[in-house]
Amino acid sequence: PLYNFKKIAVVPSAKDFIDIILSKTQRKTPTVIHKHYKISRIRSFYMRKIKFTQQNFHDRLSQIIQEFPKLDNIHPFYADLMNVLYDKDHFKLGLGQLNQARHLIDNVAKDYLRLLKFGDSLYRCKQLKKAALGRMATIMKRQSPNLEYLEQVRQHLARLPSIDPYTRTIILCGFPNVGKSSFMNKITRAEVDVQPYAFTTKSLYVGHTDFKYLRWQVIDTPGILDHPLTERNVIEMQGVTALAHLRAAILYFLDPSEQCGHSIAEQIKLYNSIKPLFNKKPLLVVCNKSDVLKIDDLPEEKKRELDVFKESNIPVLSMSTLTDEGVAEVKQQACSMLLAFRVENKMQTKKLDGVLNRLHVAV
Ligand code: GDP
Repeated sequence: PLYNFKKIAVVPSAKDFIDIILSKTQRKTPTVIHKHYKISRIRSFYMRKIKFTQQNFHDRLSQIIQEFPKLDNIHPFYADLMNVLYDKDHFKLGLGQLNQARHLIDNVAKDYLRLLKFGDSLYRCKQLKKAALGRMATIMKRQSPNLEYLEQVRQHLARLPSIDPYTRTIILCGFPNVGKSSFMNKITRAEVDVQPYAFTTKSLYVGHTDFKYLRWQVIDTPGILDHPLTERNVIEMQGVTALAHLRAAILYFLDPSEQCGHSIAEQIKLYNSIKPLFNKKPLLVVCNKSDVLKIDDLPEEKKRELDVFKESNIPVLSMSTLTDEGVAEVKQQACSMLLAFRVENKMQTKKLDGVLNRLHVAV
Protein backbone atom coordinates (compact mmCIF):
# COMPACT_ATOMS: atom_id res chain seq x y z
CA PRO A 1 0.00 0.00 0.00
CA LEU A 2 1.12 3.50 -0.76
CA TYR A 3 2.23 5.44 2.24
CA ASN A 4 0.55 8.80 2.53
CA PHE A 5 3.07 11.32 3.85
CA LYS A 6 0.66 14.21 3.68
CA LYS A 7 -1.80 12.78 6.16
CA ILE A 8 0.18 12.73 9.37
CA ALA A 9 -1.59 14.78 12.03
CA VAL A 10 0.19 17.77 13.56
CA VAL A 11 2.52 16.77 16.38
CA PRO A 12 1.68 19.10 19.28
CA SER A 13 4.32 20.75 21.43
CA ALA A 14 4.80 19.14 24.83
CA LYS A 15 2.95 21.98 26.49
CA ASP A 16 -0.07 21.74 24.17
CA PHE A 17 0.01 17.97 24.44
CA ILE A 18 -0.25 18.13 28.24
CA ASP A 19 -2.86 20.93 28.20
CA ILE A 20 -5.07 19.06 25.75
CA ILE A 21 -5.00 15.81 27.72
CA LEU A 22 -5.43 17.33 31.18
CA SER A 23 -8.27 19.62 30.17
CA LYS A 24 -9.99 16.65 28.59
CA THR A 25 -9.76 14.81 31.91
CA GLN A 26 -11.33 17.82 33.57
CA ARG A 27 -14.15 18.07 31.09
CA LYS A 28 -14.93 14.40 30.62
CA THR A 29 -14.75 12.91 34.13
CA PRO A 30 -17.12 13.55 37.04
CA THR A 31 -16.34 16.66 39.06
CA VAL A 32 -18.46 16.31 42.17
CA ILE A 33 -17.16 14.43 45.19
CA HIS A 34 -17.81 14.75 48.93
CA LYS A 35 -15.85 13.83 52.05
CA HIS A 36 -18.77 11.93 53.49
CA TYR A 37 -19.08 9.58 50.47
CA LYS A 38 -18.07 5.98 51.08
CA ILE A 39 -14.26 5.62 50.70
CA SER A 40 -14.71 3.06 47.91
CA ARG A 41 -16.65 5.66 45.94
CA ILE A 42 -13.99 8.33 46.58
CA ARG A 43 -11.23 5.97 45.47
CA SER A 44 -12.95 5.03 42.25
CA PHE A 45 -13.66 8.72 41.54
CA TYR A 46 -9.91 9.45 41.48
CA MET A 47 -8.94 6.13 39.91
CA ARG A 48 -11.15 7.01 37.00
CA LYS A 49 -9.31 10.29 36.49
CA ILE A 50 -5.92 8.59 36.49
CA LYS A 51 -7.04 5.84 34.10
CA PHE A 52 -8.72 8.32 31.80
CA THR A 53 -5.63 10.54 31.64
CA GLN A 54 -3.28 7.62 31.09
CA GLN A 55 -5.49 6.23 28.34
CA ASN A 56 -5.58 9.54 26.49
CA PHE A 57 -1.81 10.02 26.70
CA HIS A 58 -1.41 6.45 25.56
CA ASP A 59 -3.79 6.75 22.61
CA ARG A 60 -2.38 10.02 21.34
CA LEU A 61 1.20 8.76 21.59
CA SER A 62 0.21 5.56 19.80
CA GLN A 63 -1.38 7.59 17.04
CA ILE A 64 1.80 9.59 16.46
CA ILE A 65 3.99 6.50 16.53
CA GLN A 66 1.68 4.78 14.12
CA GLU A 67 1.26 7.61 11.67
CA PHE A 68 4.94 8.15 10.98
CA PRO A 69 6.39 5.86 8.35
CA LYS A 70 8.29 2.80 9.51
CA LEU A 71 11.53 2.86 7.57
CA ASP A 72 11.67 -0.92 7.53
CA ASN A 73 8.44 -1.38 5.65
CA ILE A 74 8.06 1.55 3.32
CA HIS A 75 9.18 1.56 -0.28
CA PRO A 76 13.00 1.65 -0.46
CA PHE A 77 12.73 4.87 -2.44
CA TYR A 78 11.21 6.61 0.57
CA ALA A 79 13.39 4.77 3.06
CA ASP A 80 16.50 6.07 1.27
CA LEU A 81 15.02 9.50 0.94
CA MET A 82 14.08 9.76 4.60
CA ASN A 83 17.50 8.56 5.58
CA VAL A 84 19.04 11.35 3.52
CA LEU A 85 16.68 13.97 4.90
CA TYR A 86 16.22 13.18 8.53
CA ASP A 87 18.93 10.66 9.37
CA LYS A 88 17.56 7.18 9.89
CA ASP A 89 19.02 6.71 13.38
CA HIS A 90 17.78 10.04 14.67
CA PHE A 91 14.32 9.38 13.32
CA LYS A 92 14.11 5.86 14.76
CA LEU A 93 15.37 7.13 18.10
CA GLY A 94 12.69 9.84 18.07
CA LEU A 95 9.87 7.35 17.66
CA GLY A 96 11.54 4.97 20.11
CA GLN A 97 11.54 7.67 22.77
CA LEU A 98 7.84 8.30 22.33
CA ASN A 99 7.26 4.61 22.75
CA GLN A 100 9.32 4.71 25.92
CA ALA A 101 7.32 7.67 27.24
CA ARG A 102 4.12 5.74 26.59
CA HIS A 103 5.39 2.81 28.69
CA LEU A 104 6.48 5.11 31.49
CA ILE A 105 3.08 6.77 31.62
CA ASP A 106 1.35 3.39 31.68
CA ASN A 107 3.55 2.37 34.59
CA VAL A 108 2.94 5.58 36.54
CA ALA A 109 -0.78 4.95 36.22
CA LYS A 110 -0.41 1.35 37.35
CA ASP A 111 1.65 2.35 40.41
CA TYR A 112 -0.74 5.07 41.54
CA LEU A 113 -3.85 2.98 40.98
CA ARG A 114 -2.29 0.43 43.31
CA LEU A 115 -1.56 3.11 45.92
CA LEU A 116 -5.08 4.49 45.60
CA LYS A 117 -6.49 1.18 46.76
CA PHE A 118 -5.10 2.09 50.17
CA GLY A 119 -6.12 5.75 50.10
CA ASP A 120 -7.97 6.34 53.39
CA SER A 121 -9.35 9.84 52.90
CA LEU A 122 -10.53 12.17 50.18
CA TYR A 123 -7.50 14.37 50.84
CA ARG A 124 -5.07 11.45 50.47
CA CYS A 125 -6.78 10.13 47.33
CA LYS A 126 -6.77 13.56 45.74
CA GLN A 127 -3.06 13.97 46.48
CA LEU A 128 -2.29 10.65 44.82
CA LYS A 129 -4.28 11.62 41.73
CA LYS A 130 -2.47 14.94 41.55
CA ALA A 131 0.93 13.25 41.88
CA ALA A 132 0.07 10.73 39.17
CA LEU A 133 -1.03 13.36 36.66
CA GLY A 134 1.97 15.50 37.57
CA ARG A 135 4.37 12.66 36.86
CA MET A 136 2.71 11.90 33.55
CA ALA A 137 3.08 15.56 32.59
CA THR A 138 6.76 15.52 33.58
CA ILE A 139 7.38 12.51 31.35
CA MET A 140 5.77 14.36 28.45
CA LYS A 141 7.71 17.56 29.15
CA ARG A 142 10.93 15.64 28.68
CA GLN A 143 9.72 14.74 25.19
CA SER A 144 9.64 18.39 24.21
CA PRO A 145 12.66 18.50 21.85
CA ASN A 146 11.69 15.16 20.42
CA LEU A 147 8.15 16.28 19.63
CA GLU A 148 9.54 19.41 17.97
CA TYR A 149 11.86 17.34 15.80
CA LEU A 150 9.03 15.03 14.75
CA GLU A 151 6.83 18.00 13.92
CA GLN A 152 9.58 19.37 11.68
CA VAL A 153 9.89 16.04 9.93
CA ARG A 154 6.13 15.98 9.45
CA GLN A 155 6.02 19.45 7.94
CA HIS A 156 8.89 18.66 5.61
CA LEU A 157 7.37 15.37 4.49
CA ALA A 158 4.12 17.14 3.69
CA ARG A 159 5.91 19.55 1.37
CA LEU A 160 7.74 16.95 -0.70
CA PRO A 161 6.50 16.75 -4.28
CA SER A 162 4.45 13.63 -4.61
CA ILE A 163 6.52 10.96 -6.20
CA ASP A 164 4.66 7.70 -6.19
CA PRO A 165 7.24 4.91 -6.18
CA TYR A 166 4.62 2.50 -7.47
CA THR A 167 3.83 4.55 -10.56
CA ARG A 168 5.65 4.04 -13.83
CA THR A 169 8.26 6.70 -14.15
CA ILE A 170 10.41 8.33 -16.79
CA ILE A 171 13.61 9.86 -15.45
CA LEU A 172 15.34 12.52 -17.55
CA CYS A 173 19.06 13.00 -17.23
CA GLY A 174 21.95 14.59 -19.05
CA PHE A 175 23.94 17.81 -18.85
CA PRO A 176 22.16 21.15 -18.30
CA ASN A 177 20.84 22.86 -21.45
CA VAL A 178 20.40 19.70 -23.49
CA GLY A 179 16.62 20.15 -23.56
CA LYS A 180 15.26 18.11 -20.66
CA SER A 181 12.86 20.68 -19.33
CA SER A 182 11.69 21.58 -22.86
CA PHE A 183 10.83 17.91 -23.34
CA MET A 184 9.15 17.75 -19.94
CA ASN A 185 6.97 20.72 -20.87
CA LYS A 186 6.03 19.11 -24.16
CA ILE A 187 4.81 15.82 -22.79
CA THR A 188 3.39 16.64 -19.35
CA ARG A 189 0.27 18.43 -18.25
CA ALA A 190 0.61 21.98 -17.06
CA GLU A 191 1.03 21.43 -13.36
CA VAL A 192 4.63 20.47 -12.77
CA ASP A 193 5.46 20.01 -9.13
CA VAL A 194 8.56 22.09 -8.44
CA GLN A 195 9.09 22.18 -4.72
CA PRO A 196 12.71 21.96 -3.62
CA TYR A 197 13.40 18.34 -3.07
CA ALA A 198 15.53 16.31 -0.77
CA PHE A 199 18.86 16.71 -2.34
CA THR A 200 20.27 19.62 -0.39
CA THR A 201 19.82 22.67 -2.60
CA LYS A 202 18.79 20.71 -5.64
CA SER A 203 15.36 20.47 -7.14
CA LEU A 204 13.29 17.76 -8.64
CA TYR A 205 10.60 18.49 -11.16
CA VAL A 206 7.75 16.07 -11.26
CA GLY A 207 5.13 16.10 -14.00
CA HIS A 208 2.50 13.67 -15.19
CA THR A 209 1.53 12.28 -18.54
CA ASP A 210 -0.72 9.52 -19.89
CA PHE A 211 0.13 6.57 -22.03
CA LYS A 212 -2.07 3.57 -22.76
CA TYR A 213 -4.61 4.81 -20.21
CA LEU A 214 -1.97 4.72 -17.49
CA ARG A 215 -0.68 7.64 -15.49
CA TRP A 216 3.06 8.18 -15.73
CA GLN A 217 5.29 10.47 -13.77
CA VAL A 218 8.16 12.27 -15.43
CA ILE A 219 11.04 13.39 -13.24
CA ASP A 220 13.63 15.94 -14.27
CA THR A 221 16.69 16.09 -12.09
CA PRO A 222 18.49 19.43 -12.42
CA GLY A 223 21.60 19.45 -10.29
CA ILE A 224 21.33 15.76 -9.55
CA LEU A 225 21.98 13.64 -12.60
CA ASP A 226 23.76 16.28 -14.62
CA HIS A 227 27.32 15.94 -13.49
CA PRO A 228 29.59 12.95 -13.03
CA LEU A 229 28.82 10.91 -9.92
CA THR A 230 32.35 10.92 -8.61
CA GLU A 231 32.16 14.67 -8.05
CA ARG A 232 29.41 14.50 -5.51
CA ASN A 233 29.30 13.99 -1.79
CA VAL A 234 27.78 11.07 0.03
CA ILE A 235 24.54 12.81 0.96
CA GLU A 236 23.79 13.75 -2.61
CA MET A 237 24.78 10.26 -3.61
CA GLN A 238 22.12 8.79 -1.34
CA GLY A 239 19.57 11.08 -2.92
CA VAL A 240 20.52 9.67 -6.26
CA THR A 241 20.23 6.12 -5.00
CA ALA A 242 16.67 6.84 -3.92
CA LEU A 243 15.83 7.53 -7.55
CA ALA A 244 17.40 4.25 -8.56
CA HIS A 245 14.67 2.39 -6.66
CA LEU A 246 11.90 3.69 -8.87
CA ARG A 247 10.35 1.59 -11.57
CA ALA A 248 11.57 3.80 -14.33
CA ALA A 249 12.73 4.12 -17.89
CA ILE A 250 15.76 6.35 -18.23
CA LEU A 251 16.10 8.94 -20.97
CA TYR A 252 19.67 10.08 -21.39
CA PHE A 253 19.70 13.39 -23.25
CA LEU A 254 22.51 14.14 -25.67
CA ASP A 255 22.99 17.38 -27.52
CA PRO A 256 25.04 16.48 -30.62
CA SER A 257 25.06 20.17 -31.63
CA GLU A 258 27.14 20.76 -28.51
CA GLN A 259 25.22 24.02 -27.97
CA CYS A 260 24.81 22.95 -24.37
CA GLY A 261 28.50 23.71 -23.91
CA HIS A 262 29.75 20.15 -23.63
CA SER A 263 31.37 18.07 -26.33
CA ILE A 264 29.85 14.74 -27.34
CA ALA A 265 32.83 13.03 -25.71
CA GLU A 266 32.08 14.78 -22.41
CA GLN A 267 28.42 13.89 -22.66
CA ILE A 268 29.29 10.24 -23.21
CA LYS A 269 31.60 10.37 -20.24
CA LEU A 270 28.75 11.62 -18.04
CA TYR A 271 26.57 8.89 -19.44
CA ASN A 272 29.13 6.26 -18.47
CA SER A 273 29.44 7.68 -15.00
CA ILE A 274 25.75 7.53 -14.12
CA LYS A 275 24.96 4.36 -16.07
CA PRO A 276 25.66 1.96 -13.14
CA LEU A 277 22.77 3.51 -11.21
CA PHE A 278 20.38 2.44 -13.89
CA ASN A 279 21.64 -1.06 -14.21
CA LYS A 280 18.71 -3.25 -15.26
CA LYS A 281 16.46 -0.40 -16.19
CA PRO A 282 15.33 0.29 -19.75
CA LEU A 283 17.50 3.04 -21.14
CA LEU A 284 17.11 5.21 -24.17
CA VAL A 285 19.50 7.79 -25.59
CA VAL A 286 17.84 10.86 -27.05
CA CYS A 287 19.76 13.08 -29.44
CA ASN A 288 17.97 16.40 -29.12
CA LYS A 289 18.12 19.58 -31.22
CA SER A 290 17.91 17.69 -34.51
CA ASP A 291 16.74 20.97 -36.04
CA VAL A 292 20.25 22.31 -35.47
CA LEU A 293 22.22 19.24 -36.36
CA LYS A 294 21.20 15.79 -37.54
CA ILE A 295 23.21 12.77 -36.43
CA ASP A 296 23.83 11.89 -40.08
CA ASP A 297 25.42 15.28 -40.64
CA LEU A 298 27.96 14.85 -37.86
CA PRO A 299 31.61 14.59 -38.84
CA GLU A 300 32.72 10.95 -39.11
CA GLU A 301 34.82 10.92 -35.92
CA LYS A 302 31.96 12.36 -33.84
CA LYS A 303 29.54 9.88 -35.36
CA ARG A 304 31.87 7.07 -34.39
CA GLU A 305 31.76 8.20 -30.75
CA LEU A 306 28.07 7.39 -30.74
CA ASP A 307 28.82 3.78 -31.68
CA VAL A 308 29.21 2.91 -27.99
CA PHE A 309 25.43 2.89 -27.73
CA LYS A 310 24.92 0.62 -30.71
CA GLU A 311 27.57 -1.74 -29.35
CA SER A 312 25.72 -2.09 -26.05
CA ASN A 313 22.30 -2.30 -27.73
CA ILE A 314 21.05 1.00 -26.37
CA PRO A 315 18.46 2.53 -28.71
CA VAL A 316 19.27 6.04 -29.95
CA LEU A 317 16.45 8.33 -31.09
CA SER A 318 16.54 11.78 -32.65
CA MET A 319 14.19 14.60 -31.80
CA SER A 320 13.76 18.34 -31.63
CA THR A 321 11.68 19.90 -28.90
CA LEU A 322 11.75 23.05 -31.01
CA THR A 323 9.99 21.58 -34.07
CA ASP A 324 8.35 18.70 -32.18
CA GLU A 325 9.93 16.25 -34.57
CA GLY A 326 10.33 12.87 -32.87
CA VAL A 327 9.03 14.06 -29.48
CA ALA A 328 5.96 11.82 -29.41
CA GLU A 329 8.05 8.87 -30.59
CA VAL A 330 10.54 9.33 -27.76
CA LYS A 331 7.77 9.31 -25.19
CA GLN A 332 6.13 6.31 -26.79
CA GLN A 333 9.31 4.30 -26.99
CA ALA A 334 10.29 5.08 -23.40
CA CYS A 335 6.88 4.01 -22.11
CA SER A 336 6.75 0.91 -24.28
CA MET A 337 10.18 -0.18 -23.15
CA LEU A 338 9.17 0.05 -19.52
CA LEU A 339 5.88 -1.76 -20.09
CA ALA A 340 7.74 -4.57 -21.85
CA PHE A 341 10.31 -4.70 -19.11
CA ARG A 342 9.86 -7.62 -16.76
CA VAL A 343 11.98 -7.63 -13.67
CA GLU A 344 12.59 -10.43 -11.27
CA ASN A 345 12.01 -7.92 -8.52
CA LYS A 346 13.95 -9.34 -5.60
CA MET A 347 16.92 -10.30 -7.73
CA GLN A 348 17.01 -6.83 -9.16
CA THR A 349 16.95 -5.14 -5.77
CA LYS A 350 19.80 -7.30 -4.51
CA LYS A 351 21.91 -6.55 -7.54
CA LEU A 352 21.04 -2.88 -7.28
CA ASP A 353 22.14 -2.78 -3.67
CA GLY A 354 25.45 -4.27 -4.74
CA VAL A 355 25.92 -1.58 -7.34
CA LEU A 356 24.93 1.15 -4.90
CA ASN A 357 27.32 -0.11 -2.27
CA ARG A 358 30.18 -0.05 -4.73
CA LEU A 359 29.21 3.48 -5.73
CA HIS A 360 29.15 4.60 -2.12
CA VAL A 361 32.64 3.26 -1.69
CA ALA A 362 33.80 5.03 -4.83
CA VAL A 363 32.63 8.42 -3.63
P1 GDP B 1 17.70 21.52 -19.72
O1 GDP B 1 18.64 22.36 -18.92
O2 GDP B 1 18.33 20.23 -20.13
O3 GDP B 1 16.36 21.32 -19.08
O4 GDP B 1 17.47 22.28 -21.12
P2 GDP B 1 16.29 23.28 -21.56
O5 GDP B 1 15.07 22.51 -21.93
O6 GDP B 1 16.15 24.34 -20.54
O7 GDP B 1 16.89 23.86 -22.88
C1 GDP B 1 18.09 24.60 -22.90
C2 GDP B 1 18.15 25.51 -24.11
O8 GDP B 1 18.13 24.74 -25.31
C3 GDP B 1 16.94 26.43 -24.19
O9 GDP B 1 17.37 27.67 -24.63
C4 GDP B 1 16.04 25.76 -25.22
O10 GDP B 1 15.27 26.68 -25.91
C5 GDP B 1 17.05 25.10 -26.14
N1 GDP B 1 16.49 23.90 -26.76
C6 GDP B 1 15.91 22.86 -26.15
N2 GDP B 1 15.52 21.93 -27.05
C7 GDP B 1 15.89 22.41 -28.26
C8 GDP B 1 15.78 21.91 -29.61
O11 GDP B 1 15.26 20.84 -29.87
N3 GDP B 1 16.31 22.69 -30.61
C9 GDP B 1 16.91 23.87 -30.35
N4 GDP B 1 17.39 24.55 -31.40
N5 GDP B 1 17.02 24.37 -29.12
C10 GDP B 1 16.53 23.66 -28.08
